Amino acid sequence: RSKDLGRNSYQLFKATMNARSLERLTMSSRIKQALVNDEFELFLQPIVDCQTTQLCGAEALLRWQDPQLGMVAPGQFIPLAEELGLIIDIDKWVITRSCALLAQWQQHTHFSGTLSINLSAAHLCHHDLVDTVTAAINEHGVSAEQLEIEITESSFISSFSQAREVLLALKLLGVKVALDDFGTGYSALSYLTKLPIDKLKVDSSFIAKVPDEYGNSEIVSAIIAMASSLNLLVVAEGVEKPCQHQFLQGLACDYVQGFLLGEPCSITDFNNRYVYPCATSTS
Ligand code: C2E
Ligand code: MG
Ligand code: MG
Ligand code: MG
Repeated sequence: RSKDLGRNSYQLFKATMNARSLERLTMSSRIKQALVNDEFELFLQPIVDCQTTQLCGAEALLRWQDPQLGMVAPGQFIPLAEELGLIIDIDKWVITRSCALLAQWQQHTHFSGTLSINLSAAHLCHHDLVDTVTAAINEHGVSAEQLEIEITESSFISSFSQAREVLLALKLLGVKVALDDFGTGYSALSYLTKLPIDKLKVDSSFIAKVPDEYGNSEIVSAIIAMASSLNLLVVAEGVEKPCQHQFLQGLACDYVQGFLLGEPCSITDFNNRYVYPCATSTS
């Protein structure tokens, strides 16, 4: 009996594995095709001054418009793309597209804020990254200071010195560096003084629980105080309620981002809502 059970569960395991590898294979070719067929799109979310709510920048968030699946959120395909080794190509697309957008803003609008892009941890140790960014900036003639890369702590855990070299090279170009999801990683804080970081993005899991939940407000306030004494700027992510915004204003947080200030939207919607064309512009 137990033998039968064992065999059945093995059959089930085999069937599941086959389904999984088939799914992976399908997804792999789908992601490759998405790049060729231009099915990816950048959505933009405003990042505003915490005190004045004046627009200071935008975060580019990847969306995949699949003909069959519809709109696919990054959480559903980025981990798989990382596993399949396709993330570098996706990130390159994001870098090029973002520089093209910055050039468009520069030529046709008064908007001179920062455009932040998310780079996969795998990419930071990739020798191509600096070349890719340099080429995209030069090709579109944009100022590097307007481009910001968001990385997570996992980017430099596996190879600290290599990641540091890449970041230093990007800094030399003028590109800004923000640390995303700050407070959720497991690395030592000492890296904050060893890496060329400009900004901390306090993870939304902390913001979700302020100002009510005991402990979280203290953590957020301590992060902001630490950042300020290290000369780092702070963005609070996932601000959804006015009471959260008010709490952050009281702590002299630099920037806020979240549904309260604006949800991610298409580039067209973002331009219509927040970016004003030059008076001389004909487009
Ligand atoms: P992230 O960089 O931490 O981005 C913030 C996420 O929080 C976004 O989810 C955004 O839509 C969402 N968000 C913004 N405001 C609020 C709010 O007030 N409340 C709540 N609950 N959520 C809010 P999204 O767009 O699904 O992206 C998820 C993650 O996927 C990103 O987290 C980032 O790690 C990754 N990602 C997005 N775009 C790219 C990309 O182009 N390349 C790479 N490598 N990763 C990306
Ligand atoms: Mg981000
Ligand atoms: Mg984040
Ligand atoms: Mg995140």
